[in-house]
Amino acid sequence: YRSLVRLGTKHEIPTKPDLNVAHLVLSQFPQGDLAEARIAFVDAATDKSLSYGEVRRSVYSLASALFHGLGVRKGDVLFLLSPNSILFPTICLAVLSIGAVLTTANPLNTESEIAKQVRDSGAKLAISAPEELHKFVSTGVPIMLTYCPSNSGMLSVEELIEGCSCSLELPQVTVVQSDPAAILYSSGTTGVSKGVVLTHQNLISTLKLLFWSVDVSASSDDVFLAFIPMFHVYGLVFFGLGMLCVGVKIIVMQKFDFQAMLLAIQKHKVNNLPAVPPVILALVKYASKAGCDLSSLQRTGTGAAPLSKEVSREFRKMFPWVELRQGYGLTESSAAATFLVSERDAKARPDSCGQLLPTFCAKVVDIDTGKPLPPQKKGELWLKSTTIMKEYLGNSEATTLTVDSDGWLKTGDLSYIDESGFVYIVERIKELIKHNGYQVAPAELESLLLSHPLIVDAAVIPVEDEATGQIPMAYVVRAAGSELSEDQVIQFVAGQVAPYKKVRRVSFIETIPRSAAGKILRKDLVSLSRQQLVS
Ligand code: ATP
Ligand code: MG
Repeated sequence: YRSLVRLGTKHEIPTKPDLNVAHLVLSQFPQGDLAEARIAFVDAATDKSLSYGEVRRSVYSLASALFHGLGVRKGDVLFLLSPNSILFPTICLAVLSIGAVLTTANPLNTESEIAKQVRDSGAKLAISAPEELHKFVSTGVPIMLTYCPSNSGMLSVEELIEGCSCSLELPQVTVVQSDPAAILYSSGTTGVSKGVVLTHQNLISTLKLLFWSVDVSASSDDVFLAFIPMFHVYGLVFFGLGMLCVGVKIIVMQKFDFQAMLLAIQKHKVNNLPAVPPVILALVKYASKAGCDLSSLQRTGTGAAPLSKEVSREFRKMFPWVELRQGYGLTESSAAATFLVSERDAKARPDSCGQLLPTFCAKVVDIDTGKPLPPQKKGELWLKSTTIMKEYLGNSEATTLTVDSDGWLKTGDLSYIDESGFVYIVERIKELIKHNGYQVAPAELESLLLSHPLIVDAAVIPVEDEATGQIPMAYVVRAAGSELSEDQVIQFVAGQVAPYKKVRRVSFIETIPRSAAGKILRKDLVSLSRQQLVS
């Protein structure tokens, strides 16, 4: 399958062999008086804001300080560990602009996970939020703070920016398209996370795709809310790079908090909400009780994990004035590979994550034979595009297993594509439950469970079973005050699925564990179920 859509023309993007992705982003900023008048970022907690002009000056100052003052050179890896902040994108752009390589991590990662990433990525300098500083101490890597809370005597980005008389040009560093720009770690949902090396070309290509989708769905008057994590490819591409090229206003939340999100939408008249499935679910289950004015919303997008079609239908019923669009992508594909562009298509196909974006080719292959399959047949999705990663850092074995010699990325996702080129993700192949020789997709059962009025959240995992191999078990969050029983849940599912897909055990739980990018942490639930079984 080839993408059927062409890139738009609103944003003129030069194609040059030495184009640096950060220079491209800066070149698209509003210019002159407009740059001072237009707000780029607002901190949702403090209301502190930065204009596009200020962001540009900060990037120039920081880039000069890193290059001239601290001796950072092309190819040096800089480790940024911080929750979302209005400074985060400035740091990313400054690092990239001098040909240095950016690596990021979840600030919730433990000290040993951070130490491992420092070693793995070969980081030369850490830029850390003050609260996370202790995680770098044992590594011996030089550390700079993002900002200095009190007179701790440590160097900080904020201080460097304020202290540096604004440089009028960026340090002269030339990159080529295959030079690494970022090492982003995959979410680690299915195992140990891998360092995904993305080049300037990868990020430039993915920006072109973003511009194209923006051409059809957003404008510079838009107000976006940024709670999706900027350390993850989705948030980084959206808010660290892409949306700045469009000149939108971005309200930054340190992290996701449902009530704070509703208040921010109301206060800042947010109209665009890039989100993940649990946020859409929370809007469906709780928004009506919160009493906030959400009439400014026009568009919301979701990706990174499966969106239940029942939840998607319910969302449209409750928020008929809001467009809901799904996208699909991987860290290895520098974010989105598919996107549901038109609201009409999205309504007609609530379980599709859209068509291939321009530059993408796809095939669905038989999991056992590797042979390409026709439309509607389920198999592993393979992708090819200029956005596909260069490699897994220092792991040529994993790279060869994941990207074949023709450049096809094996996504590990079971999917099918219909005759019109719409892509449907069924489940990760690794997460299929094998029951009596049949395959059961947890996402399908979760989707069904979420349609129950007394169930507010759910996750399905495999439990080992001597007779049948594995059985599907559901962890369920009941609505407050509900006395829903295990048997009622089992019967509810059994009434709607083939016998081999039945949920055979149910346990009630307070919350479903999820990663910052909204993915169900099934491996945590599998260990919990083992503990419960033993006790
Ligand atoms: P790891 O590879 O380390 O186990 P991960 O695959 O979760 O972690 P990411 O690169 O963040 O790391 O996520 C990509 C995966 O997310 C895809 O392979 C797919 O399984 C899932 N995904 C992304 N978007 C969607 C979507 N719209 N619907 C269903 N699944 C999605
Ligand atoms: Mg993955």
